[in-house]
Amino acid sequence: MCGIMGYVGPRQAAPILVDGLRRLEYRGYDSAGVAVCDGKTLVVRKAEGKLSRLSDLLDADPVAGSSGIGHTRWATHGAPSDHNAHPHTDPSGEIAVVHNGIIENFLPLKEELLAGGAVFTSETDSEVLAHLIAQEYQGDLLEATRRAVARAKGAYALVVTSSREPGRIVAVRMISPLVVGLGKGEVFLASDIPAILHQT
Ligand code: GLU
Repeated sequence: MCGIMGYVGPRQAAPILVDGLRRLEYRGYDSAGVAVCDGKTLVVRKAEGKLSRLSDLLDADPVAGSSGIGHTRWATHGAPSDHNAHPHTDPSGEIAVVHNGIIENFLPLKEELLAGGAVFTSETDSEVLAHLIAQEYQGDLLEATRRAVARAKGAYALVVTSSREPGRIVAVRMISPLVVGLGKGEVFLASDIPAILHQT
């Protein structure tokens, strides 16, 4: 169970997400990633290894946008790799999730989704959540997430964003830690206080 970050506000999200994830490095991790929305498109960058690899990717190919989510992963389902790193998206690429913890019943959920023709791009338990939220989506990300997590068992924290509703982030906490921080005209999410205390 590792690091989660989220940001909505007037500033560029990517540097704030990476800064927060860096402050959570003490928890250990095997890969890192962000999804940032510029108001139209959701862009995901992720990489196995140290946060510096993710920062290098972002330096080489920056992502603009003032809302986003970030993650440092400690693998439980699927080996550490670029494609198992979070965020995970639904097949449209318009809904992205980061997840800490374990979805205990992910296998029957995945089998049901596969039977319906879903194509998975990772071995994680987390990716089923992106598919389930997309399946439940009828114009309201909060309602879709609520319906999706009603089917999930386990202890977890989950943060969801979508280019269909720019500037909106939905967060779920089931036993696992997740905190909300308020700044001036901006909101932060993190799996632990040190990530965002200086901003709030
Ligand atoms: N179970 C998820 C995975 O293996 C999340 C692990 C975590 O908490 O970092 O990808």
